[in-house]
Amino acid sequence: MEGKKTKVVAVIQCDFAKERCSGFACLDSFAKRIDAFKGYPADSGIIAVPFNCGGCPGRRIPRTVAHLVKSAMKKAGVEKDEIVIHLSSCMVTDNGHYPPCPHLGYIEKMLERKGVAYRKGSYGSKTASSRRREGKYEPFEF
Ligand code: SF4
Repeated sequence: MEGKKTKVVAVIQCDFAKERCSGFACLDSFAKRIDAFKGYPADSGIIAVPFNCGGCPGRRIPRTVAHLVKSAMKKAGVEKDEIVIHLSSCMVTDNGHYPPCPHLGYIEKMLERKGVAYRKGSYGSKTASSRRREGKYEPFEF
């Protein structure tokens, strides 16, 4: 990973997907440091913070990110540039839930205005990967 050591990884998940998804697979991938979390060292004490987007068009994101930045500093002395936000696979990929979030550009702009680092992807579904190879889903590289 470039820059400062990451101390907090937040995973933003789609509100619609979370109506049926527990979010287990994303945090399991983080715990195993696979899929979109490959670059983070194991046993590094990174805190994982999952939260939902709040519904279209990601209306909760700026407020929750502001709260995260404030709490991370207050509770754990973590600075903003030690936080990385992952936009979950249910938001950024064509997948079993549905196509990518139609508000992705708007959400990215909100994160840029908040000045937080973000990356695309979380859990890599084997089924979705195979459908990508078959050309049924849009391409995505983890
Ligand atoms: S803004 Fe995107 S990620 Fe959030 S509920 Fe709507 S479609 Fe899902």
